[in-house]
Amino acid sequence: MRYAFNPSKRVLMGPGPSDVHQRVLSAMARPLIGHLDPEFVQMMDNIKTMVQETFITKNMLTFVVSAPASAGMETCLVNLLEPGDECIICVNGVFGGRMVDIAERAGAKVYKVDTEWGKITELSQIKKALELCPKPKLVALVHAETSTGALQPLEEISDLVHEAGALFVVDAVTSYCGVPLRVDDWKIDAIYTGSQKNLSAPPGLSPISFSEAAVKVLENRKTKVQSWFFDLSMVKNYWEGAKRAYHHTAPVSSIFAMYEALNLVLDEGLENRWARHNEVHQYLKNKLEALGFRFLVEEKYRLPNLNAVYLPEGQDEAKLRADLLNQFNIEVGGGLGVFAGKIWRVGLMGESCTRNHVNMLVGALDELMVK
Ligand SMILES: *Cc1c(COP(=O)(O)O)cnc(C)c1O
Repeated sequence: MRYAFNPSKRVLMGPGPSDVHQRVLSAMARPLIGHLDPEFVQMMDNIKTMVQETFITKNMLTFVVSAPASAGMETCLVNLLEPGDECIICVNGVFGGRMVDIAERAGAKVYKVDTEWGKITELSQIKKALELCPKPKLVALVHAETSTGALQPLEEISDLVHEAGALFVVDAVTSYCGVPLRVDDWKIDAIYTGSQKNLSAPPGLSPISFSEAAVKVLENRKTKVQSWFFDLSMVKNYWEGAKRAYHHTAPVSSIFAMYEALNLVLDEGLENRWARHNEVHQYLKNKLEALGFRFLVEEKYRLPNLNAVYLPEGQDEAKLRADLLNQFNIEVGGGLGVFAGKIWRVGLMGESCTRNHVNMLVGALDELMVK
């Protein structure tokens, strides 16, 4: 073969993608069927139901965007915002910043609530923002900030946002299927996530869900959504069962994979899965702290499935991370933004969240670290 490519068998313990179950990999090798085949339509309906179950929502407008989680983010924001709209976006890491960029490109006036990276956004900060911007169309924030490992409490903020008459928009990319997340109970109006983190499917798909209040906002838009591909008024018809109309060609094999991954989550049970992520996190925490690593985020707000840690004194961050990959096939993530070169991000997501993964990492570190 002229350009043979045989990727190594890696152990994925970074910020995503995570390891993928063999059943999910095998699903992608199934023969293709057409995306308008009645069998495929049935499968899409089932996926919709499974996404509703995993989001814990009855929202009718729930489906999967045919693109990575950043596209789910874009779908939520460009459909809900029109030029001149005011909104509040909380930024305590990379992904809040990305939301601001998308909202500004959509022509919205953004009131930013900036918080030091590694910390959560406090209720009082949002109260203050609401004094400057009392009638925002939406308030958006990141539930699990993958760039810092901070887990944002949502329920009280949701109440505050609804008292102000705004929609509550949440990035649940790294919380979905890993930590408690209840879309209806927490009154989340628009939410997006990804396939590649705790769901442990290949990257490239983004489940989303909109409440009735959010759907009303879509129906009352005065201007066209400036993006053709992400315009929900058209793409939603593609996911409407027997009535579905051609919009684009769904990535059939990726959806086969997601179907299998969602089944694995439901077989395990969401609550069991949340408990597993927490339990393996504790196991990792004890071992990393014994090696001299220190956690970035205060214990109370730590994300169990994305462990942001400072390395012990005297270790060369980049070299150690490269040695892990090259000598042991273990991938961990480096820091982003202000934490580049300063921290590691150790993911314990979905299939990568086992005690064996922790032991592989710790065993390799024990050999590689400068003593
Ligand atoms: C990974 C991630 C995204 C983006 O996902 P892609 O699949 O890379 O587009 C968005 N938000 C958060 C919090 C993430 O962790």
